This record gives sequence, structure tokens and C-alpha cells, in this order.
Amino acid sequence: MSQAPATSLQDIISHAKEYGFVFPSSEIYDGLQAVYDYGQTGVELKNNLKTVWWKAMTQLHDNIVGIDAAIFMHPLTWKASGHVDGFNDPMIDNKDSKKRYRADQLLEGKAEEYREAGQPDKAQELLNEMGRLLGAEDLAGVRDLIIAEGIKCPVSGTANWTDVRQFNLMFSTQVGSVAEDASQIYLRPETAQGIFVNFLNVQKSGRMKVPFGIAQIGKAFRNEIVARQFTFRMREFEQMEMQFFVRPGSEMEWYNTWKEARMKFHKAIGLPAESLQYHDHEKLAHYANAAVDIEYKFPFGFREIEGIHSRTDFDLRNHQELSKKKQQYFDSEINQNYIPYVVETSVGADRLFLATFCNAYTRETVGEGEGQKERVYLKFHPALAPVKAAVLPLVKKDGLAEKAQSIAQLLKSSFRTVYDDNAAIGKRYTRQDLIGTPYCIAVDYQTMEDDTVTIRHRDSMEQERVHINELKDKIGYEVAMERILEAI
Ligand code: ATP
Repeated sequence: MSQAPATSLQDIISHAKEYGFVFPSSEIYDGLQAVYDYGQTGVELKNNLKTVWWKAMTQLHDNIVGIDAAIFMHPLTWKASGHVDGFNDPMIDNKDSKKRYRADQLLEGKAEEYREAGQPDKAQELLNEMGRLLGAEDLAGVRDLIIAEGIKCPVSGTANWTDVRQFNLMFSTQVGSVAEDASQIYLRPETAQGIFVNFLNVQKSGRMKVPFGIAQIGKAFRNEIVARQFTFRMREFEQMEMQFFVRPGSEMEWYNTWKEARMKFHKAIGLPAESLQYHDHEKLAHYANAAVDIEYKFPFGFREIEGIHSRTDFDLRNHQELSKKKQQYFDSEINQNYIPYVVETSVGADRLFLATFCNAYTRETVGEGEGQKERVYLKFHPALAPVKAAVLPLVKKDGLAEKAQSIAQLLKSSFRTVYDDNAAIGKRYTRQDLIGTPYCIAVDYQTMEDDTVTIRHRDSMEQERVHINELKDKIGYEVAMERILEAI
């Protein structure tokens, strides 16, 4: 058995579409850029990822509870959070190709070129200069730097650039049916603010004591200038965020705790240690006093899947100021009132999906000589797989089909099981491999005699013979979310 060549993003996109994981949105109209739909297998994988995250946060921690806040929020929320004034990306257009780019990404790309050419100092110098110019909001300086570095548009090949302009990433819309009464609101660009504005509601109604956390899974929307790399950068996506409210002064301790806990989570769901790394932020967001990304090695390089941020009391303090409602907590242990500090963990469900999918995609050559062939399968952790077991009668006649159907029926209430009697059994195994089903149960003539079946294991392709009565416990044990939660 040998490993086939490296997987490209195109392999991933094609496989995801062909086997019902991810489709381009409204594809019959040629799609909508950076918007995707999850298909019949994809939604199961994504739901499993969301469930395991939710359980890891709420079920494993006595002091973390969940909420589900609305996407629409009072417009002042986004003033307080800094998004109205500061949630911008610097963009630049090439006048010849009419293509739009993020100015910082063009410069980062150049720095990457320097690094690849063995000039890491030059790369760092460029990034520092870019950081300085962006920090000082010197957009003309950013444009000059792009020109001085000789950066050209990859489409037109020219350096005929427009000015650099700030572009706000929030989508806005109107609420109210009558034009005069309508007011502008935003589609939330992050789920976190739904948690901040409910901080006191949850604290009081749940009698929560600091330190405590609030977790949430929900959609977020960003009008990304350059949307590419499949579900890595979408305009509509889903976040899984947890805001952890702590006593001021203890935030660095909690920051380090969560930094480690979150890395452990990613390893527990099956992402290998060598494909994960931390990346400390050099330039901190306006609200943070420490920030780190957890990056996964995608086919296009190491990229962020999760951010862990120490957000100070920035959000609650600003909400207090704008709403004129106190956002304080009375800490009876130290007899003090304060606005809690916040450590946040924020992971994109879609990026986690993509990381899990890329990691699972396995291509290998099996067999010897003439019989050699390529085999593709998805090696998901059994608890994450869209389908846990497939029951396959060897042939349809002689009562085998009915027997297999009754076994599938028996297992369905415990875990997701499918029945398939279409085509040769080898083809049916392959079909299940391609969607990552960890167990295939074959029903043959011996089954009719002694109620035993074979279980074929996806990764090793090994088969074992077991009694029908053992199936529920045996497979149920392997596919339970508990297996992941125990490893966190
Ligand atoms: P990036 O630098 O890649 O734009 P970010 O630092 O702006 O990401 P955060 O604001 O920290 O991202 O959001 C937290 C998480 O939400 C990210 O780690 C990512 O998993 C997810 N996320 C953010 N933007 C997108 C997007 N456009 N598409 C898919 N997921 C996203």
C-alpha cells in the first residue's frame, strides 16, 4: 500500500461536490461567489462537528452555558463593538483588469515570495512596514509600497493601480415596511456581540459566578473582498464562539488555559498534531491585549481555523457607555464591582469542516502487480462520519435482502445506518468509502444459518465475523461522541 501524490484543493472541491458534501450556492444560475450549500452528507458532518463542539463547551464545563441570539441586532451594537468605524479591509483595484484585491494580501503575498526565495529578513521588514502604514491609516503609503515592491495584477500583469480605499465588510439592510420609518441594520459580522449584550441576562437568570462562559453557534456575514479557497473564506458562514468572563487581572491565565484546551479539541477530533500550529498575532485587533490563531495545514498552506483572543473589557465597557446600562458584576468573594474581562474562543464551523474533510481525504494505491488500483476514502473519526454503518446483502434473493433490511432497522435508532443492495458488493464498499462510512455490514448465506455477519472496517478493509446481537454495542461504542469528549 503506498501513498498517492499530495491532495490539491481541486481534488477536495470535486470530491465534496460529487459525493453530496458541498455544492456551490444556486448553481443552476452559475452560483454565487463565496456562498455554498451543504448537501446530504455534508450537513451530517457539519452537524456532528457542531454537536461535538457544543458538548465540549457546555456538557464538559459546569460553568459554561449556551444561547442562541438573533442575527439582527440593534444597530448601536455595531457602533459599540467598533465594527461600524473599524471593520474595514484596505482594497485596491487594477485599472486594466478591473480586478479587486486586498492591499494587505498583495503585500503578504510578496513577503511570502521573499521567504520562499530565502530572504526571511526582507519578508519581515515588508510586513513591519505594512503594519506601520496600516496602523497609521496611511493608505497612500500602502499604495506607494505596493508600487515600490513592483507588485503586478496577476490577471493583467500591470501595476496600474487605483488608490487604496477602506471597505467596510458589514452587509446592511433595512427593517420596517415603510421607507420613511425604515432604519438601517446589519447582518451580524460575528456572533460574539449576541453574547455580550446578553451577558447580564444570562448571569442573573442562571445565577452564574465569574469565571463563567457563554457559548453560541450561529451564522455570521462578511462582505469579503477577495473570496476564494472554497469554504475557507465565505460571505455567509457559521461561527462557534465562546466568551469566557473573568476577573480583571486573571485574563492571561485563562487565555493560556483556553489556548491549550482548544488545541486539544482539534487533536481529539482527529486533526494530526503535525498539521496544527499556533500563530501569535503581531498586530492586535482594536479590542485585544493578546491573540493567537490555531492554524491547520490546508492544501494551500497553514491557515487560521480558530482565534483565541483576550478581549479585555472592551466590548462590555462600550456597551455600557452606549446603552447607559451598567454591565457590571458584583464579585462577592472580593467584595468588588467590576466589568469582567473576556477571553474568547472563536472557530469557524465551515473552516473546521474543510480542515476535517481535507484531513480525511485519503488516496492510496492498493493491491499488487496487475491488480493494483487507486483507492480513495474519507477517514473521518467514526463519531463524525455522516453515515456510521451500511448494511449490504451479498445478493438480493433468498431472503438476504429482507434479513439485511431488518438489521438496518435494528441499528437505525442508535446511529445513522443505511441499506444498499444496488450493484456488486465491491462497488457498494467503494461507495461507502467515498463518503467515509466506517463500518459496512455484509449479509451472506451464512447469516441465514447462524445470524452472524461480517463487519468491514473502512481504513484497514479488514473483515471480522460477529453475531447480529453484538452489532449495536460494538459499532455504537466506536461511533459515540463520548470517544471524542473523553480525549479532550
Ligand atoms: P481571517 O483573518 O482569515 O479573515 P479573522 O481573523 O477575521 O479571519 P475572526 O474574526 O477571528 O477571523 O473569526 C473567527 C473565526 O471565524 C475564524 O477563525 C474563522 O474560522 C471563521 N471565519 C472568519 N471569517 C470567515 C469567512 N469569511 N469564511 C469562513 N469562516 C470565517
